[in-house]
Amino acid sequence: MIKHLPHNIGNLNNLEYFVCISNLLEGLPGDISRCQNLIGLYLSRNRIKSVPEQLIKCKELRELYLDYNELVTIPESFVRFCKLNIISLSGNKLLYLPHIPFISCPRMLIENNDYLTYIPYSVGCQQSVLTYSNQASWCAMSQPVVENTLNGIWSLRVQECGNESLSELPSNCISIRLSLSGKVLVMPRQLKRVYQNNNFAIPSLFELSLRNVYTRVWKEKMELSLKTPSNIQTHFSQLMCPIENNDTRLNQEELEQLLPKEVLVLLSRGPVAYCSNPACSSPIFHDAAVEIIPKDVQRRSWDEDEPELYKVYASRFYCSAYCRQTYFNNTSLQWERQLLNSALNFHILNVS
Ligand SMILES: [Zn+2]
Repeated sequence: MIKHLPHNIGNLNNLEYFVCISNLLEGLPGDISRCQNLIGLYLSRNRIKSVPEQLIKCKELRELYLDYNELVTIPESFVRFCKLNIISLSGNKLLYLPHIPFISCPRMLIENNDYLTYIPYSVGCQQSVLTYSNQASWCAMSQPVVENTLNGIWSLRVQECGNESLSELPSNCISIRLSLSGKVLVMPRQLKRVYQNNNFAIPSLFELSLRNVYTRVWKEKMELSLKTPSNIQTHFSQLMCPIENNDTRLNQEELEQLLPKEVLVLLSRGPVAYCSNPACSSPIFHDAAVEIIPKDVQRRSWDEDEPELYKVYASRFYCSAYCRQTYFNNTSLQWERQLLNSALNFHILNVS
């Protein structure tokens, strides 16, 4: 029946594993960030509505169980956990997932999120690569790894996701309504403007400045390719740690003199996504061109003979309509387009 954790929980600085499953917790004190030796945090089946951003300071964290709570989103900063092996988010009220893949490539569980209507493409690919590499023996016996990897985004466990639609949009969020299904896709809170079909839309000057300063000062980089044995290349993002280079990096003091505080906050929080055009990979803050890729995927439930069809949507963000166009006109990516367009060409995964 525990409702609150003590606010000085950080005094337990040797704490390694904290288990508080099936209680009545509604949140976590930010002070938990002082538990620098925390390895496992098990908070399944509570009433947690949000988790503090500071949790990222627990650098040793390997297992994070937040399933069956009331989370609407998780802090974007969580993608920067360096040692995280597993993050369980099943059975929440998630509206979207971070669009930047996790540095440590943890296993992510997301089924039973009624309002989750889409998956970020890069995160989905990352998860799939992980899934298939974990099942290497199974892979060897069936299709080639490459094929599995390419189909990967669609093999995520999304059972019982996107079943219900929102009665009202959360405040400060913009959304995309899909014309065919009428489904509403809630965009990450930081985004102020998205465009789907406008080929002439350009980012605002403010957005361009943010990108420019971020790239120069933070020097963070995304790598966007995965080479597979049979000469096929797929693109999924891998976040690299910031490059520490004191010669070119401005220090905090210099920055504070140069930039308004609100801008500094935005920059230190980092981008919401990176451009999906591998040749660009520019950081995206407020303003993005969005591509929504629909696909029917097939699931066979244990008690039924007839496979069930799920409509899954994946999202890709680009820094501009121009980048989206360039990416699509790139002929070397023909195979990827074919794959994405073969909407009903799914594979049956035979468990036996
Ligand atoms: Zn771009």
